[in-house]
This record gives sequence, structure tokens and C-alpha cells, in this order.
Amino acid sequence: MTGRYTFSMIKPDAVRSNYIGQIISEITEAGFQIRAMKYTSLSTNQARSFYAVHKERPFYNELVEFMCSGPIVALVLENENAIESFRTLIGSTDPSKAEKGTIREKYAESIQNNAVHGSDSDENAEIEGNFFFSQLERF
Ligand code: ATP
Ligand code: MG
Repeated sequence: MTGRYTFSMIKPDAVRSNYIGQIISEITEAGFQIRAMKYTSLSTNQARSFYAVHKERPFYNELVEFMCSGPIVALVLENENAIESFRTLIGSTDPSKAEKGTIREKYAESIQNNAVHGSDSDENAEIEGNFFFSQLERF
């Protein structure tokens, strides 16, 4: 069992396709409470550091370019067992393998342009939330 918070982003592909409203609906209907939310964008340096764990991967530069290609929505979300339940809600990284009914299965374009991000641990949720929000911006 993990903690109550996760961090999510609606990625540039889904913002471009006008899916913000539908994706937020899916998230809140699944029982998540929005604790912080911001429509913003990532600089190249921010995207590089956000995905620094992948810097040796062949897709890193393209991923960084994609994440800077347009606005994103950053979210701090609360629910029981938040990390795992959110990752179940969004589905596999590759939308062609994502379970039916998951957010990525419905809204993602490709393994890279996969509509949403979800933190993979309590520790990273904390780091990623702090990347976008001050304590005063969380409720
Ligand atoms: P995220 O961290 O964004 O929630 P994830 O945890 O499902 O996604 P990671 O392995 O952490 O997947 O990869 C981070 C992101 O890098 C993916 O969401 C996707 O945008 C991109 N990515 C992952 N694997 C590939 C790949 N093989 N080719 C292109 N892009 C990829
Ligand atoms: Mg990840």
C-alpha cells in the first residue's frame, strides 16, 4: 500500500487534441481529488530534468522535445493507494498494449505521445509535485 498522493501531467498531445476536460473527468470519476492544478509548459531544461532517469535511453531527446512541444496540465491528486490506482487508471506506457477503458487506451497517440504521466513511487510523486507547485498552491 502506497501513500495518498500522486503527481500527473496531461501531456502536450492530449492538450493539443482538446482532451483536457475528458481526462480530468475520468480522473475525478475514478475517485481522485484534485489538490493542485496548473496549465503551463515545460522549458527544455525542465523537461530534461523531469525525465533525467531516462537520459541514457535512445528516446530521451525526442521525449524532451515532445514534452516541450506545447502546454501541459500539471496535477497533484489524492486517493487511497494513489500511485498504483492512478497507474491502473492510465494503463500501460504503450497505448496499443494498454488495457481497454484506460486513459491511454482511449486518448494516447503512441508510446511517446501517451496522453498522461503518472508518478511511479511516493518519493517521485513528492519530487515531481514540488517541481511544479509550492506548498501554498496545494489544498
Ligand atoms: P510516465 O513516466 O510518463 O508516466 P511510464 O512510467 O508509463 O510513463 P516510462 O518508462 O517512465 O513510462 O517512460 C517515460 C515516458 O517516456 C513515457 O511515458 C513515454 O512518453 C516515453 N517513452 C517510454 N518508452 C518509450 C519508447 N520506447 N519510445 C518512445 N518514447 C518512450
Ligand atoms: Mg515513468
